[in-house]
Amino acid sequence: MNDGDVRSMTHDLVITDGLLVTPEGTFRGSLGIADGRIAAIVDTRLDGREVIDARGRVVLPGTVDLHAHFNEPGRTHWEGWAHGSRAAAAGGVTTVVEMPLNAIPPTTTLEALEAKVTAARAHSVIDFALWGGLITDNLEHLPDLARGGVIGFKAFMTETGTPEFTHVEDGILSEGLRRLNGLGHFLAVHAESNSITRDRTEGLRAQGRRDRRAWAEGRPPAAELEAVHRAIFLAREAGCRLHIVHMSLPEGVEAVRRAREAGQAVTVETCPHYLTLTDEDLVRLGPVAKCAPPLRDQRRQEGLWQAVLGGVIDCITSDHSPCPTEDKARGEDDIWAAWGGITGIQTLVPLLLTEGVHRRGLSLDRLALLVAANPAKIAGLWPRKGAIRVGADADLLIVDMDREWQVERSWLRSRHPHSPFIGWKMQGWITHVLRRGQTIARDGEVTVDGGGEWLPSGASPAAVRPE
Ligand code: ZN
Repeated sequence: MNDGDVRSMTHDLVITDGLLVTPEGTFRGSLGIADGRIAAIVDTRLDGREVIDARGRVVLPGTVDLHAHFNEPGRTHWEGWAHGSRAAAAGGVTTVVEMPLNAIPPTTTLEALEAKVTAARAHSVIDFALWGGLITDNLEHLPDLARGGVIGFKAFMTETGTPEFTHVEDGILSEGLRRLNGLGHFLAVHAESNSITRDRTEGLRAQGRRDRRAWAEGRPPAAELEAVHRAIFLAREAGCRLHIVHMSLPEGVEAVRRAREAGQAVTVETCPHYLTLTDEDLVRLGPVAKCAPPLRDQRRQEGLWQAVLGGVIDCITSDHSPCPTEDKARGEDDIWAAWGGITGIQTLVPLLLTEGVHRRGLSLDRLALLVAANPAKIAGLWPRKGAIRVGADADLLIVDMDREWQVERSWLRSRHPHSPFIGWKMQGWITHVLRRGQTIARDGEVTVDGGGEWLPSGASPAAVRPE
């Protein structure tokens, strides 16, 4: 279709005169949307039945969060799809790839997958894809989960916070990798050495340590780095594609870079909390900043930023892991007693706009790769999701890049609105969030009920390597 045809066609919705962040570059122009998809991208104006004037604002692809826990079914009182997806939408996340654990049952069988799809379809305001789990005793369920539509599998190399989802030792891990490769699938790992974290933690507890710094001391960098190297080695032996979640160490990123240089298919994510908080913040804030791997020192945070800006880290995810506020509060004087996980899906994009784009010169093009294109590719959702391109779903964010605001508890849409970022000054305000052409959030207020669609594996062509 040439420009003349596009301009004369009337679209359902037109977004005019915004700074469009597309894979072909960032330029001023307009988008035409028809039947929930992007139908036209032009550097002029367009006509439509409905028009959003985006003059002076940036239009980004909707965020694909590759790593979040919504805890439903079974722990809906911790978050649930209704609250979790609303927090996501208010923060500019239009697609979530939800983790197999912290729901009951965990997504380790086909029946559990079906139960989760049912819960999510009933309540999610954003589109969703699902991870399956690899645990100690479900090797025979992997083919069913793969056929059932999970986009990939997740395993823990160290004990999880929930008893239903067991961690795997090397025997199951290597066998799981071998079988997943046979299924044309891939594995995401939480890489921390179980024996190092367990023994260090037991030692600290035996000394009577309960202070906040003890949490970080119990999970030293060596525990993560050892597991990263081991996972890369076992994945290479099995020939299986590997994704490493929530990397907190530049040394670990370097291990991924070297493996990739040697031809191995390995991708890696980090999270905003590793880019914006340090071990000193854990001491200052306490349980609300407890996560695993723990927050690291300033030098490592700088190293992670260099890997983000330099394109070595593939994507940034929230690792949104909510819990009732009392499960944080009981760790005030005993850090071991607090739930480990950060409620962070709503602050993912605002933090990257503020600390990345404004403060460190992260380009809008790279931001779009980190939170949209690359996670969509890793999850096999590309090209339907992840970019502003003709034919893709019209999942879009409109952002006033200059507007300054402050994170308030009342802005948070999670069931239990705690966050380490309350009180933070932000720059870059999301005015509109569109899911398949429909406005689902406006200035932080979610404007729809439900409507999120499941994106089973195979809904898009096979995954391709991120850029
Ligand atoms: Zn997680």
